[in-house]
Amino acid sequence: MNGENKIVVRGGQVYDHDGDVHKPKVADILIQGDNIVAVGPDLDAKDAEIVDARNRLVVPGLINAHYHSHDTLCRGMFEELPLEFWLLYTLPMGANRSKEELRARTLVGALESIHCGITCVQDMLGLVPLDESSTDVVVNAYREIGLRVVFSPMVWDVPPIAMVRHGDSLPADVQDMLGTTGRPIKDQLDYLEHQFRRHAATGTLHWAVAPFAPQRCTPKMLQGCADLSHKHDLPVYTHVYETRGQRLIANDLFAEHDGSLITYMDRNGLLGPKLNIVHSVWISRPEIDRMAAADAGIVLNHLSNFKLKSGIAPVLDMREAGVRLALGCDNCSGSDVQSVFQAMKAFCLIASVSDPELGAPLAQEVLRHATLGNARSAGLQGKIGAITPGHKADLVIIDLNDTAYLPYNSAARQLVYTESGRGIDSVIIGGRLVMKQRRVTTIDEDALRREVEGLMRHFITDYEAVVKSRARALPYMIEAHRRMWEPDVGMKRFISRTR
Ligand SMILES: [Zn+2]
Repeated sequence: MNGENKIVVRGGQVYDHDGDVHKPKVADILIQGDNIVAVGPDLDAKDAEIVDARNRLVVPGLINAHYHSHDTLCRGMFEELPLEFWLLYTLPMGANRSKEELRARTLVGALESIHCGITCVQDMLGLVPLDESSTDVVVNAYREIGLRVVFSPMVWDVPPIAMVRHGDSLPADVQDMLGTTGRPIKDQLDYLEHQFRRHAATGTLHWAVAPFAPQRCTPKMLQGCADLSHKHDLPVYTHVYETRGQRLIANDLFAEHDGSLITYMDRNGLLGPKLNIVHSVWISRPEIDRMAAADAGIVLNHLSNFKLKSGIAPVLDMREAGVRLALGCDNCSGSDVQSVFQAMKAFCLIASVSDPELGAPLAQEVLRHATLGNARSAGLQGKIGAITPGHKADLVIIDLNDTAYLPYNSAARQLVYTESGRGIDSVIIGGRLVMKQRRVTTIDEDALRREVEGLMRHFITDYEAVVKSRARALPYMIEAHRRMWEPDVGMKRFISRTR
């Protein structure tokens, strides 16, 4: 698509993970097609489009290693909802929607991502129905707006009620609200394999395999996912130990696997360098060590873990164990923003309050997690995450005139602690200038706004009906959440009030 494309990003300070992270050197960047071909002073700009980056900071495109596009229209709808209740509302609002809404919601999340300097998202999509025409809508929306995507429609065969501890003791109608129907394994795996062929991973489209969560999959499903990952050389993402309830589910229901979801995945062929487990708030230290030894990764999502009352992931243990780390922003209704800046800042701040000793992670470290670490999670190491020749041209150009840089003392620290996304001026993805002078160039933003406004009328009506129909479940969910905190699980992950 961009075979003949030639761009020179002229005169910016080019962020180099291995260089001066506080005052990066000024250089030009030559882009041909979708690749960076040279970085250095005074590059030949003959026949090239010039992007003036003087008094700009040029950073590698940020990567969001955990995201779901199915609930972008729910942004700002919820507060004070622990994960188990939140599923009551978000699952139905993401399923069986019109093709217009499917397209619009994909673009809404992608538009926000680009405006916030994200050039690649790992979209672990809850696609219902899981069919070709819906897949086409999503893939085409990403292509249209130009956001790089590591796409993984989620698969599972154990019904959603398995997310709630002691879910089978709830009244039958409450169980039905959460979901009591499984899905056939073969249909889903065949669907995935067929999509990998129909939409080959080229340009800005990449694939991953995403079993929803180990406790939502039988051994046969996990083995099928492991086979697909192996056969097509694809990364795997799955939700593990997001809540304390999930730790207890592992202890209770997976006793034959040492009470460990890591052992359960290991025995079904998933524990290895392609595996990424998302959240890991309630993972034990021995399990972290096993993950590190297997070169498996953890994708942290502090912001949604806080907002959904899941707890605090043991970042210091993870750093000490040397497990590879990535960062995500999770659902638009779970922390309400696609901002890797916020995720990076939360990472550094948590480590600072968890450990009174000096040596908390530095801004330059978390910048590596959000770029190189997230690229590694997707198997795209050496392709995205750094501004060096041979990498894809995924760049974010930040205006140093923004007050976040007044005065300008450190690129790394001010990116992590100060930048909100407001300074982002232009974004290049795969050699395509998708945002220029604060406007996305690939779609009509105003038209999308008008379209979403129209869609929301219907969406809100449906949402109100869902809320009304779920009212009976609430007391049970409150009780389930409270009980989840009662048993001692031998780990501290939450700063609670003293009683
Ligand atoms: Zn998730």
